[in-house]
Amino acid sequence: MAFKKRFHIETFGCQMNVNDSEKVAGLLSRAGYESTDDPGHADFVFVNTCAVREKASEKLYHQLGRLRKLKRAGSGLRIGVGGCVAQLDGTRILDRAPEVDVLVGTHTFGQVAELLERVENGQGRQVDLDRKADAFRSDPEAVAHSSTVRAFVTVMEGCNHVCSFCVVPRTRGPEVNRSPDDVVAEVRSLVGRGFAEVMLLGQTIDAYRHEDVDFAGLLARVADVPGLARLRFTTSHPEHVTAALAEALRDLPTVCPYLHLPVQSASDRVLASMRRGYTRAQYLDTIALLRDRVPDLAISSDVIVGYPGETEAEFQETVDLVANLGFAGLFVFAYSPRPGTTARLLVDDVPAEEKSRRIAVLNGLQQRQQLAANQARVGSRESVLVDAVGGGGVVTGRTRHFRIVHFEAPPETLGRTVEVEIVGAGANSLQGRLAQQAIH
Ligand code: SAM
Repeated sequence: MAFKKRFHIETFGCQMNVNDSEKVAGLLSRAGYESTDDPGHADFVFVNTCAVREKASEKLYHQLGRLRKLKRAGSGLRIGVGGCVAQLDGTRILDRAPEVDVLVGTHTFGQVAELLERVENGQGRQVDLDRKADAFRSDPEAVAHSSTVRAFVTVMEGCNHVCSFCVVPRTRGPEVNRSPDDVVAEVRSLVGRGFAEVMLLGQTIDAYRHEDVDFAGLLARVADVPGLARLRFTTSHPEHVTAALAEALRDLPTVCPYLHLPVQSASDRVLASMRRGYTRAQYLDTIALLRDRVPDLAISSDVIVGYPGETEAEFQETVDLVANLGFAGLFVFAYSPRPGTTARLLVDDVPAEEKSRRIAVLNGLQQRQQLAANQARVGSRESVLVDAVGGGGVVTGRTRHFRIVHFEAPPETLGRTVEVEIVGAGANSLQGRLAQQAIH
């Protein structure tokens, strides 16, 4: 019996990159490869890169250093690189790492299996960095989803914003929106294959528009798919939050009451320099609109600390906003200058230790707030969709507000929604007790 060739994928970055890797995995499986967790056992290793911060970008080159050793050991290993760093650094990657066999950008993931075949046929190294290629070309049925419960569905590629710090418009290009019919068809197919939850993905998903369908309209169409238990989406930009979106969150029972809404800073000077397109007051008005329509909406956010020129007083404005809003989750990043961005022209003058201190201040505050919010849930009942089975009879799931809950339950609950009584709380998760095995 012939052994199947094996592939291994390393993914850095956001959910969108995870979804791109799932597409590559699906196509490789169709081409007859099987997946392995161990790069040492793989015939093909694909590194899907993230360029958002310098550290993430550098990970590619560390990884390539390790793979070079494996390749030189004579295993016949083929190496592929794709995604944001590939699009940004282009063929310079090949100068730094000549052992790379396949190089694709952010719009050409669908080509990986074909390009690899050409390499195997002796056609030499293959590169496709075409930014104008149709990123939605790959067959949705071929996606190898990493979960059997929650599936990512990319509805929008690229970004039309011009945030001074952000490399994404350069790596992923301008916005391209997928047709609602295609999105609905993919979701129907996912539900048919047993997925309970779908997470729609886009860099600024609330800016979605396809002909006369805006994002609230898209949500309504997807929420209508029979059998879909839960619908989520990420990431939203404050400038595009409308009353219609707030009302979709309120009125569509499938849509979970959770919104990721990056603020980045609460200083008007910093926000203007970042070119975020809103002031602190406008961000607060947006939150007020959302909470008016959905009082218990869970809102999470991103913050960048140490942006060029950020003073202690400006940082404190962000600390105050975080203290007052009570976010359900917060991701805090140290500002990192990126190539081709306008902020790169500014002096990166906040020292690294000061950036680390500011991160620690915000994370400490956020952890205390999350702990208090989670403790307040003790004694309540939650509908939990089980998405992982751990050891010792413990399963893990998410509430509709995206809180993590661990509790004892049979493994057959995977993919099902069960009622759980909350009996304990930490800053990052809840402990529960199965209240009733009602399956919704
Ligand atoms: N498109 C989304 C948005 O702008 O709201 C998210 C894009 S990015 C992948 C995720 C987060 O990384 C951003 O919200 C921001 O907080 C952070 N980020 C982006 N560029 C950065 C930079 N140059 N330095 C530090 N953090 C950065």
